[in-house]
Amino acid sequence: MPREVVFYKAVDQSVLTEGFSIPLLYQEQLIAGLGLTLNRGQKQPIHIWVDGKQYPAVMTNIQFDEQKYPHHKDLLQIRYGRKSPMAAKFREIFSYTNSLITAQKLSTGNGRITHLAEERKEFLAIYSTTIPGELLLECIPNTEFREETAGLVLLGEKAAEGLLDGTDDTASIHLQTRICKVRHLAKTICQDLKIAYGYRCQLCGQYIGEPYGSNLIHAHHIDYFVKSMNNNASNIMILCPNHHGIIHDRNPIFDFSTRTFHYPNGYIEGLKLNIHLK
Ligand SMILES: [Zn+2]
Ligand SMILES: [Zn+2]
Repeated sequence: MPREVVFYKAVDQSVLTEGFSIPLLYQEQLIAGLGLTLNRGQKQPIHIWVDGKQYPAVMTNIQFDEQKYPHHKDLLQIRYGRKSPMAAKFREIFSYTNSLITAQKLSTGNGRITHLAEERKEFLAIYSTTIPGELLLECIPNTEFREETAGLVLLGEKAAEGLLDGTDDTASIHLQTRICKVRHLAKTICQDLKIAYGYRCQLCGQYIGEPYGSNLIHAHHIDYFVKSMNNNASNIMILCPNHHGIIHDRNPIFDFSTRTFHYPNGYIEGLKLNIHLK
């Protein structure tokens, strides 16, 4: 079974109780992999593999008012329901998120998690398979995430970033294997951003590799990863190696509200390119 991660999903209340939506960007690949054709309003049973066991679920193409939303794309969801073995299994594996939700429920009465710190998130990796109707999910619970990132913290920020965005493969195989899940997750996020910026530096706007046919560009963590463990796109900036080097040499403060770097010598620099930092 060829295994390729299609996307990652941060675990939330919906994953633990009823199911989750497929982001638009990945719908086509996932549906093709499953060998399904689903018109709006249709659903089909699928099987989800988790930890070597099979769980029944349903892939649904949500029906909505097409006259009201004529240009709306399909809304695909994987559903299993609150009392299903799938939901029970997720609540067991992601007991950390489940306990946070339960605690929140007790304190606020609504059970909604308003904000979950990045280092507390748990993830599902959704793989494509070539077996019709079968989906493979890999769980990345918080304990595992923490264990893996602990190995990275010891490396220091620049080396950790190089490993996470796939520009530095010099780490030992032992370490690479130990941080496999986190690394795969990070690489996917970094690659998406690099492509979105056309391999250009957000500070100088240059595609430095272009004349050479090279896509060399770095992903920089604004709040240093080894401290924040925050690998969300909202904490990542795409930089050419020169500017990346300068940032780590001078450690300027990034002001998110104005999206400017403030250097120790008083120099202030804004971003030439920005499509994802709000
Ligand atoms: Zn640059
Ligand atoms: Zn960096």
